[in-house]
Amino acid sequence: MANEKLNTRCCVVGGGPAGMMLGYLLARAGVDVIVLEKHADFLRDFRGDTIHPSTMQCLYELGLLEAFLKRPHQEVREVGADISGKRYEIADFSHLPVHKRCIAFMPQWHFLDFLAEEARTLPNFKLRMETEVTDLLWDGHRIAGVRARHGDGRLDIRADLVVGCDGRHSTVRAKAGLQVSDQGAPMDVLWMRIPKATETEGGTLGYIGADGFLVMLDRGDYWQCAFVIAKDGFDAVKEQGIESFRDRLVRINPAIAENVKALVSFDDVKLLTVTVDRVQRWYRPGLLCIGDCAHAMSPIGGVGINLAIQDAVAAANILAEPLRDGPAAVGLLDDVQQRRQWPAKMTQGLQIFLQNKFIKPLLASRTAPKAPLAVKLLNWFPPLRRIPARIIGMGFRPEHIRCREVLTPPGKKS
Ligand SMILES: Cc1cc2nc3c(=O)[nH]c(=O)nc-3n(C[C@H](O)[C@H](O)[C@H](O)COP(=O)(O)OP(=O)(O)OC[C@H]3O[C@@H](n4cnc5c(N)ncnc54)[C@H](O)[C@@H]3O)c2cc1C
Repeated sequence: MANEKLNTRCCVVGGGPAGMMLGYLLARAGVDVIVLEKHADFLRDFRGDTIHPSTMQCLYELGLLEAFLKRPHQEVREVGADISGKRYEIADFSHLPVHKRCIAFMPQWHFLDFLAEEARTLPNFKLRMETEVTDLLWDGHRIAGVRARHGDGRLDIRADLVVGCDGRHSTVRAKAGLQVSDQGAPMDVLWMRIPKATETEGGTLGYIGADGFLVMLDRGDYWQCAFVIAKDGFDAVKEQGIESFRDRLVRINPAIAENVKALVSFDDVKLLTVTVDRVQRWYRPGLLCIGDCAHAMSPIGGVGINLAIQDAVAAANILAEPLRDGPAAVGLLDDVQQRRQWPAKMTQGLQIFLQNKFIKPLLASRTAPKAPLAVKLLNWFPPLRRIPARIIGMGFRPEHIRCREVLTPPGKKS
């Protein structure tokens, strides 16, 4: 078993949206950074697909938006839902004060590939795939790096700062002993692909009926679908059989009667458990947690990727300059938490309100739901639709790129 030892200024654990963005921004600012990702590629399905205006604004500020938009994606300016057979318009993104006034639906692997390709052009950036962090290295009470597994080998990386971006089941967070408080989620999500007969076949984003709640994301020649079920309810769904499940989907959206035949067995349906939680303290000396590692988000509003990106931008704004010169003081890690915990808490609060007020009763009842008054008001008065668009598209505290780009000649370290 080969042992490798490396030193770096910042070691980012996890190559999801938070980790890739932070790695890119720190390297762009002249900080030596190594990102470790346990998978061999980014080609994992069933992850968030929604890139919001706040994220695209950051890409615009970085000069990357044009290249990003060349990747396969669909743009949505208005979002609506079908509730018991009637269409309601809910959010209108076309008035937001940003460069790109829409949501871009892009499979997450394209987004992460894009960030990785851009980051690899920077001399301070290293990405190690198939490298799974298993433990932390300590100097007394200070976290001084990570221990990782790569194939049969072991890798020790000593770093002035470790950033946990390893998601909702974070190893880094557990090994650091950071306390997590579960906020509760009454639902899980079943995720599946439903093919289209033609690419132009359209549809609405959300369908809500007596048989449940179905979200359909247009991915060109198929829909990526999310079906919301009661927490731990997948076994009960399976007991009823795949035919009964298909019938249920068709009762919610009769237009997909032919398309759902592609779901042959429950092997075509994946369970994604929903968690809403957050750590009390996002840091310890030598370690910071951001993204889902600090606050796992519910899929409501499709905001998780975007919050993770905003955390990364804020962390880079606060830490890049000091990290270029040496270790970041603990006070700066606290500054990152102070800046980002409020938007995370506010967003989770709203998600929990919507979960308890609408989704929980919907999952418990088998009667056709009526549109809530708020949804009716949004449908009747179009200017009101700018409010949910603002909350979803921009978040509670939109971040801007403030860390300076430092150009290092290729091959030369800062
Ligand atoms: C059902 C469901 C649907 C969702 N839909 C959406 C949506 O449409 N839009 C949206 O914005 N958000 C959505 N979310 C939320 C979103 O997926 C997350 O909030 C977002 O991905 C968080 O990004 P992250 O970078 O913090 O963590 P992750 O995306 O979880 O990335 C963590 C990375 O760390 C890697 N990793 C884990 N452990 C280790 C280790 N020990 N060593 C090395 N690498 C490791 C993982 O492989 C992964 O690549 C959804 C969530 C759920 C549950």
